[in-house]
Amino acid sequence: MQHRNMTGIYLTTKLIMDNPDYIKVLRDDIGLNLAIIGFSGQLPQVVNEKSPYDGVPLSDDCLHRLVARHMDGGLVDPLEFDRVRASIGPSVTVGGDDAMFRKCIDTAHQAGCDVWICGGSWTLRRLMFCPSNTLTNDWYESVYCHLASHYGVQGLDITHARFPMGSFPRGLFACTCDACENEANNMGYDMPRMVGSLRSAHQRLRETDMSHLVSGANGGLGPLDILHLLGLDPGLLDWFRFRSGLLGHNLGRFREAVQDANPDILFGTDTYPASLSLFMGHNHGDWANFADFASPLVSHIYQFVSLTLIEWAIFIQEIHPELCERDAMQIVYSITGYDGLGMPESISAYNAQDPEDLAQSIPLTEVILHDLKKARSSLPDQVPSYPILHGSGWPKDAIIEIREGSEKLGHNGIIWQGTDELVDYRLKS
Ligand SMILES: [Zn+2]
Repeated sequence: MQHRNMTGIYLTTKLIMDNPDYIKVLRDDIGLNLAIIGFSGQLPQVVNEKSPYDGVPLSDDCLHRLVARHMDGGLVDPLEFDRVRASIGPSVTVGGDDAMFRKCIDTAHQAGCDVWICGGSWTLRRLMFCPSNTLTNDWYESVYCHLASHYGVQGLDITHARFPMGSFPRGLFACTCDACENEANNMGYDMPRMVGSLRSAHQRLRETDMSHLVSGANGGLGPLDILHLLGLDPGLLDWFRFRSGLLGHNLGRFREAVQDANPDILFGTDTYPASLSLFMGHNHGDWANFADFASPLVSHIYQFVSLTLIEWAIFIQEIHPELCERDAMQIVYSITGYDGLGMPESISAYNAQDPEDLAQSIPLTEVILHDLKKARSSLPDQVPSYPILHGSGWPKDAIIEIREGSEKLGHNGIIWQGTDELVDYRLKS
């Protein structure tokens, strides 16, 4: 299926104001035709009144009512609660400047680029607002409809529409609140059964003789073989299908409302790296049901992929302290399908917080193209795909190889984060 090729970049209002000719330089040098600008305007009172918060800052009681619940009944994690207190409602910070935001949109349009507004969604990194909460979803719907119909832009790009990052195992076991149980029922799932399956999976993992799992993982067994070997019951798969179905259902509702408000606007979201995406609530195969495009978010390879694999290996080692690090990593690689790519054999071998260092310790190009191949194969044909890549921080030859590989795989352009390796332009900030 033919799709328009897009070369985009994520920008902030401040960056555009500080570097007014940057977009034109990118247009001339790398063929930029899309600017994705994070929302920094001001919502009108009629939208603000839809916020599920009981004030600014909101009370602890209100916050506790809105966030997702772990299956043990407790909070998932309070670490990011203070960040939420600085917002007017989920994903919208206090104190926007509408005139400046509009000026930035005009700057991009005058350079001949399409403009998409980037808006947030249920999850920060660890914190998640319950995706079944009616007040929260009504809020998002009215925010998105406002963004789609008041700024003359061509698209709405929603990010963080996912469950908490994979590097945070507690996030895998949320949300099991009453509202989510009700939604599960409506969708034909059985919450108590799914929770029972999660508990029994944990118990089976404890009881399993890990020597079988280690020899299986080293012998080339795949993810389904390992699940079979653990003897897991179908409620576990239901759990992850329910979570992705729930997000997809809500996103479909948002798209419908947004396109009622502005029939010409595109609505889409980014996707978690495909090997892990179902764990975070992203089922690529469903994307056409709620999005006009997909942006495979493969740039955050340390936070999204490496750290997830490391934390899951630690999680298994906590249950089975007799396992050595190498064996724990190998089991995780087999479950996630990253084995055979030359991934580090130990946690210390990852040796990276810095993207450039990480490129030295993992097979960066292979891992990213591995996930881009899976993403394009599993996204429906009618959904164009614009992978998100670093244009700064990674080695230039790796960037070129990934960009060319992505095009060969059938993706429809790139959305860049940073351009230091692409153009000779010193950003003022
Ligand atoms: Zn919930």
